[in-house]
Amino acid sequence: MTIVDASSRGLDPEDWPQARLQAHSMLDDMLDHLEGLRAGPVWRPMPAAVRAGFDAPLPEEPLPLMEVHQEFLQYVLPYGTGNLHPGFMGWVHGGGNVAGMLGEMLAAGLNANLGGRDHAPIEVERQVLRWVRRIFGFPATASGLFVTGTSMANFMGLLVALRAAEENRTPGTIQEGLVAYASAAVHGCVPRAMDMSGLGRGALRLVPVDGAGRIRLDALESAIAEDRDRGFHPFLAVGTAGTVDIGAVDNLAGLADLAGRHQLWFHVDGAFGALAILAPSLAPLLAGLEGADSLAFDFHKWAQVPYDAGYLLVRDGERHRAAFASRAAYLERATRGLAAGSPWPCDFGPDLSRGFRALKTWFTLKTYGLRRLGEVIEGTCALARQLEARVKAEACLELMAPVALNIVCFRHRGKDPDALNARIVADLQESGIVAPSTTRVEGNLVIRAAIVNHRTQACDVDALVEAVLEFGRRLGAGTK
Ligand SMILES: *Cc1c(COP(=O)(O)O)cnc(C)c1O
Repeated sequence: MTIVDASSRGLDPEDWPQARLQAHSMLDDMLDHLEGLRAGPVWRPMPAAVRAGFDAPLPEEPLPLMEVHQEFLQYVLPYGTGNLHPGFMGWVHGGGNVAGMLGEMLAAGLNANLGGRDHAPIEVERQVLRWVRRIFGFPATASGLFVTGTSMANFMGLLVALRAAEENRTPGTIQEGLVAYASAAVHGCVPRAMDMSGLGRGALRLVPVDGAGRIRLDALESAIAEDRDRGFHPFLAVGTAGTVDIGAVDNLAGLADLAGRHQLWFHVDGAFGALAILAPSLAPLLAGLEGADSLAFDFHKWAQVPYDAGYLLVRDGERHRAAFASRAAYLERATRGLAAGSPWPCDFGPDLSRGFRALKTWFTLKTYGLRRLGEVIEGTCALARQLEARVKAEACLELMAPVALNIVCFRHRGKDPDALNARIVADLQESGIVAPSTTRVEGNLVIRAAIVNHRTQACDVDALVEAVLEFGRRLGAGTK
């Protein structure tokens, strides 16, 4: 038998003062990085030697924390996605923030497990739920939960809708032929959620959009009528607040009304767009959102909370719980002691152990305040309008989609425009000046600038336009 000796004291530092110094220097290095973002490139390709370094053998023996941090500084920090940088405009990435970062560090320090039980971290998550209800005008009976992201929240929303549809069926009958509806511009995670639910993406009807990229309600009405005639059971309508390609917002009030008339569950994918509700000038675009049965959105996009912090809000909290709650002896609830405080977050989703995503969100919302976050959101939309105006003013450039929020799709004119614009975007990314991404609008490859980052300014939008013109010129593109 081995006797545990005094030197075996777990994983805590042997030299706390030394650990403290090391911890402070790690924090300082990160703050230096954030303070100096503008001086560096948005993104830089990872040299082959750096990539190969990640193939090192298993770390059997200990390394001093300082050395591990040095490796981080050398091989990880310089080769991030670039979404911290003001020149990052690709996909829809949040910029993160210092208060949220520190909140995340404290959350890790607490090592809280937010699956359940009776403790203050759960009260933080419950407080955020109360705020979320207020923000979106949902009743006090609405439930909510932090999840990884909107992909997961959409999937869970669909499962709650499915469960509600099953409850509504005539007892003893099997409800086959359930069908759901979303616009043709819906995010790819919704068809995937249909696949994961077992219904299959074939049961998702993709309804055509109007010129502004919004679901056509008349086409949706006809699709529902046609499906009913053919013996299908429509159960779910998904609206989008901010489509991923061009940022279009569906007519949510119209969808809420239609869903009500046809007794469909009305789910909104508001991944980034839902939080436009924090900006007074944009909030009217989201009228009708308060009528949704469920809403998926991300704090890690426009609200700048560090990844990941997705959220699902469900109007009928009891239905939500019924879709996920299960009984297990080891999760028995009590009226006193640590096992009190039911219901627990694990009753509202598939995860049992859950991290403290609520804390970085709580720090972000409290430190900046909703008004300031709304101003940030408004500011990114103003920059998008500035970019739109510049694109329209340049003979070489062409606006490819209407600008509803913070996304601008455009392209450089020239021969073989798809190949030309794909090259321009890759050149821009590799230049480190700005990093937009690409998408397709009506089949055409376009340069897509999604302005999400709170650090992005007018000079970054100008830099994008100048660089697109310059790279287009270098590639020999004409003006037609
Ligand atoms: C980003 C996005 C998603 C996916 O959200 P994740 O948080 O990345 O899982 C879904 N829908 C829309 C409209 C999005 O912009």
